[in-house]
Amino acid sequence: MSHPVFSWKQGAFLADFHVHSHYSRATSPDMHPDVLNRVARQKGLSVIGTGDFTHPGYLKELKETLEPEGTGLYVCRDDPEGTKFILSSEISNIFTQGGKNRRIHTVFLAPDLEVVEEIQRRLAAIGNITSDGRPIFGFPVKELVRIIMDVSPDCFVIPAHIWTPWFSLFGAKSGFDSLEECFEEQSEHIFALETGLSSDPQMNWRLSALDRYTLVSNSDAHSPSRLGREANCLSCRPTYEAIVSAIKDPAKGFEGTIEFFPQEGKYYCDGHRACGVCMHPRETIEHGGRCPVCGRGLTVGVLHRIEELADRPEGFVPKTARPCVHLIPLEEIIAEALGVRSITGKVKKEYLRLIQIGGPEMGILLWKSEEELRQFVPDRILEGIRRMRKGKVHISPGHDGVYGKVSLFSREENLPGYGSRGRQEDAVQLDLF
Ligand SMILES: [Zn+2]
Ligand SMILES: [Zn+2]
Repeated sequence: MSHPVFSWKQGAFLADFHVHSHYSRATSPDMHPDVLNRVARQKGLSVIGTGDFTHPGYLKELKETLEPEGTGLYVCRDDPEGTKFILSSEISNIFTQGGKNRRIHTVFLAPDLEVVEEIQRRLAAIGNITSDGRPIFGFPVKELVRIIMDVSPDCFVIPAHIWTPWFSLFGAKSGFDSLEECFEEQSEHIFALETGLSSDPQMNWRLSALDRYTLVSNSDAHSPSRLGREANCLSCRPTYEAIVSAIKDPAKGFEGTIEFFPQEGKYYCDGHRACGVCMHPRETIEHGGRCPVCGRGLTVGVLHRIEELADRPEGFVPKTARPCVHLIPLEEIIAEALGVRSITGKVKKEYLRLIQIGGPEMGILLWKSEEELRQFVPDRILEGIRRMRKGKVHISPGHDGVYGKVSLFSREENLPGYGSRGRQEDAVQLDLF
């Protein structure tokens, strides 16, 4: 039996649009197109974003490494049968609107390198595009949408990780209460919203105002191993135009999404990282929004913020809903099954062995039957995959920038000397939003 939620169509493929290059702050030095191509193949992603197309140094690198396929997508010159790249970039706007400070991140897709060059020309005239792969501008995000859509109406806009407190459309710290309030007359260009790691479609279904947007999921990877930890399943032709059409109108081939367990995200619950305080929104309200340790205001997480804006009860499923599955990266399942706390050499070795025999990774996590898996997957890892597919996981939720922790095995089942499974040590450092 494959994953119970999904029977994805024949010919469907996975795409991850939000990725960063080594030019973005706090990213791995390995974030080059050739490495991304190789890792995406291991994972089973057919299409990935280039990330950082606003950066002139990276654009040069993309031109050297990639060649056009004639479909609006690009492939590595050295591996034309490999992963297809879609030109993408994330941009940060920090500005004042409606008397408040706002910080909004937005992902853009572009149809070809000429359009990207023109976007760079226009943005370079009004800000700094060389200091960071994810540039920061001091004008309203609606202005940015106007500029980019003016360069080419074929560009596509996706507000990024819309619930994270610090840098997003609906963020508790510096966001808005509605999309129209933020984008005003540019709202007509918005067809999709990125749910981010700390929220899943189920949480977003509680806002009727979001029904008309396609909920997309991307990894926002800052290092190669994070690629595809969230992704989109499409069944359209793999061309720029068909992909954008399918996101605009899911009936044209947007099948659903792959999700993190949202509790694992760094801003799921409310809390204070330094005080070791993590609270459910109910408890936060009981405490008057104050931290019981230091007395200052708690960082309000995604769950709380959704609760504030929701007009539907938990569990509501709108007609427009697309299926989604919650996955745990295979390396993390292996680590817990082997009883180690992080992704060690032993884990990586087993990961490579498994994907060499039965890869790509997404096939192992999602599609292969238990009988097929039993041929090459050790019992304890197989049990981990089985539990993940059934959603039988234990999660201590993330809060105030600390990742949540998911466990597949109970304390009694764990091997001696093993506590709850932790994220990779580099997680906090490498995955700043
Ligand atoms: Zn505190
Ligand atoms: Zn971001």
